Amino acid sequence: MATRRNCATYPLSGRVTGLCENTYTGISRESTNSGGRQYRCSGGNSNRPAGKESCGCSYVDAQALEDHVWEEVVKLIGDGRRLEELAAEWIGLSEGDKEANIERISDLDRQIGELNEAITAVTVATAKRTRSAEAIAAATAPLGEELQQLERLRDEAAQWLSEMEDADRRGRDLRDLAKLARSSFRHMEPVQQAEILDLLEVRVTFTGPVPKELKTGTPCPVRAWYEAAGLEVPAAVLSDSDWRTVAPLLPQRPGDAIRRSVNAIFYKARTGMSWPEIISELGVTKTSADHFRRWSSDGTWKRVNEALTHTTRVPAWAPELLPPMTIEGRVDPRMMLSAAEPSRTGCR
Ligand SMILES: [Zn+2]
Repeated sequence: MATRRNCATYPLSGRVTGLCENTYTGISRESTNSGGRQYRCSGGNSNRPAGKESCGCSYVDAQALEDHVWEEVVKLIGDGRRLEELAAEWIGLSEGDKEANIERISDLDRQIGELNEAITAVTVATAKRTRSAEAIAAATAPLGEELQQLERLRDEAAQWLSEMEDADRRGRDLRDLAKLARSSFRHMEPVQQAEILDLLEVRVTFTGPVPKELKTGTPCPVRAWYEAAGLEVPAAVLSDSDWRTVAPLLPQRPGDAIRRSVNAIFYKARTGMSWPEIISELGVTKTSADHFRRWSSDGTWKRVNEALTHTTRVPAWAPELLPPMTIEGRVDPRMMLSAAEPSRTGCR
């Protein structure tokens, strides 16, 4: 079960539905070698009902998912102005209904009081005539039935009022949220994010499979190099002038094998292709992979990258972490009354 604490650490716990129609919850995998915060499909964990097979959904990187969803939520809210107007309207609307309801409850209370007095009077009057408990019960029975009916009506009205107050409170929360949205919505703590996701009833539905984790094999060493170095990759094949800049830093060989290797390594960093794919696509040889190994370990590759100060660069290729998904939320506070279901407190 997701707890409040879990919501704060994993604002999307319980809000994400996988392809298998089960829900994702946050889990820390620090004990495992993949590490870090992840969301896990409940159809695949060990708590699933006995005898049920694991759905096989992959874990989802928590940071990537949260960043993406939050970005969409910020878009959904816009600058908060419209949301604030709607919330204010809603609070005004419910105010009138609430007063009518409070009046109705006090009216019912008065009727109940009168009926109770009447029951007492009938009981006393009957007791004066007879000592029979049955006779007293028979005399008060019709009034008792009426009392029960009134009490039922009162309970309903009280329930209705508390739902209205609840919706009203959400309207006010939403108005505060909208105000906040105008100043600091984009940068919010996970706890605040969780509250807002709750308030907006945000639902994420994966519409495709989660990209598989790299379970075997090593990640692309070229990408790893750029990640570790914190550098971006030249955006295109090196121009002649770029080549003249870096050529003196590299081994001198006849022909263009070295230049082709350099471009192949950049290409691999940009696309994430495997060496066999690169070799068949660019017509280079396995030597390009050996070149990268040597140059990255002896500092040559660092010098080459640092020398290309005027070259347009792009981020190195990164594996796709997220599946395709739809993100829905309610921004119309008038929808909130119908959203007043038991599940709406807490984050599941
Ligand atoms: Zn699943």
